Amino acid sequence: MTTESHHPGPQRPALLTQPPRGASAWVEIDVAAIATNVRELRRRSSSAQLMAVVKADAYGHGVDVAARAALAGGAQWLGVAQLSEAIELRDSGIDAPLLSWIYPPEADLATAIRRDITLGIGARAHLASVARAARAVGRAATVHLKVDTGLGRGGVLEDLDAVLDDLAPLLAEGALTMGGTWSHFAFADAPDHPTVRAQQERFGEVLRLMEARGIPTGVAHLANSAATLTNPSAHFDMVRPGLAIYGLSPVPDLGRPEDFGLREAMRVRARLTTVKRARAGQGVSYAHQYVTDRDTVLGIVPVGYADGVPRSASSAGPVRVGERTLTVAGRVCMDQFVVDLGPDFDGAEGDVVTLLGVGVAGEPTAQDWAVAAGTINYEIVTRMGPRLPRVVVGEA
Ligand SMILES: *Cc1c(COP(=O)(O)O)cnc(C)c1O
Repeated sequence: MTTESHHPGPQRPALLTQPPRGASAWVEIDVAAIATNVRELRRRSSSAQLMAVVKADAYGHGVDVAARAALAGGAQWLGVAQLSEAIELRDSGIDAPLLSWIYPPEADLATAIRRDITLGIGARAHLASVARAARAVGRAATVHLKVDTGLGRGGVLEDLDAVLDDLAPLLAEGALTMGGTWSHFAFADAPDHPTVRAQQERFGEVLRLMEARGIPTGVAHLANSAATLTNPSAHFDMVRPGLAIYGLSPVPDLGRPEDFGLREAMRVRARLTTVKRARAGQGVSYAHQYVTDRDTVLGIVPVGYADGVPRSASSAGPVRVGERTLTVAGRVCMDQFVVDLGPDFDGAEGDVVTLLGVGVAGEPTAQDWAVAAGTINYEIVTRMGPRLPRVVVGEA
């Protein structure tokens, strides 16, 4: 196989440094916050290296800018789930060490190997297909062996001995190079949960077993954001945070971003497109879930569930208007929702309101929206849609 396959990747909005003239809503990405967050996470993980997880378009922040900001902040590695995401990073000129862990059997592993993408090995079948691709390319594939220490998702679980039996000759042959050994927690956000200690112990046991068999473990890594922040004994050789590099708390019950020295990197802003008077008793938006209780002023916020504003946050999501935080009035629609601005509102169409911002600045946060929508902050940021232009602010 000699042809390179091209993965055009998902359609993304172009990056800007100013909200486009006439834009009704946009996402701002503070690259300085991402770089600073990575620096802080590195400080907290002392001698461990840091892999910045930039899967899912860097949790909705835009993979290209976020990856560069994370590297500027001192990340030594980048991690993505899909192989297509890794190839896209290489296509954009990023040559940092890069791990990808989700690919189907028919994936273009030869391209991955040629482009220096380290592959996670999560099953016995992966070993054979990666080794076959490496022989075809004529060069060793670097792999990180993923062990299921108890999550019950990806990784080698019951057949570890068989996998190590397969692995040893492939290393000797030079088809594979051991770059690392890794695992993932089931309850990282509950550091006292008994599975956390059990998984860590199992991980240590696997590393010792490999050493005893003369199989190099490479870089050992286990900690996602929650474990990076709350469990230093899980840091091993490298930490692997995603959410925290974007300035969100993976353990909202244990601390806010600022408690961990982190700052939210995503802001979502919109301009009121309509400001109008309504009488008491006016039903608002579909199904009149909200009814005005006095003569008032209604404002239309031009973002909806098609943009990633969860419909489940109807009558619940927070919006900052001037110095006040208001609540979505009634149903979130596909393209818009309504806020009750109150009878004395003295603003006008074109005023900027904030859906997501920096908590310490008094703005609503992804965590506030998660509570309003009955989900987690991860889902709030990752779902912000491509219809919203991305504006880069700050200097990495
Ligand atoms: C997404 C992911 C991470 C990062 O998790 P966060 O909770 O966002 O820090 C780390 N490791 C694996 C395997 C993942 O899938």
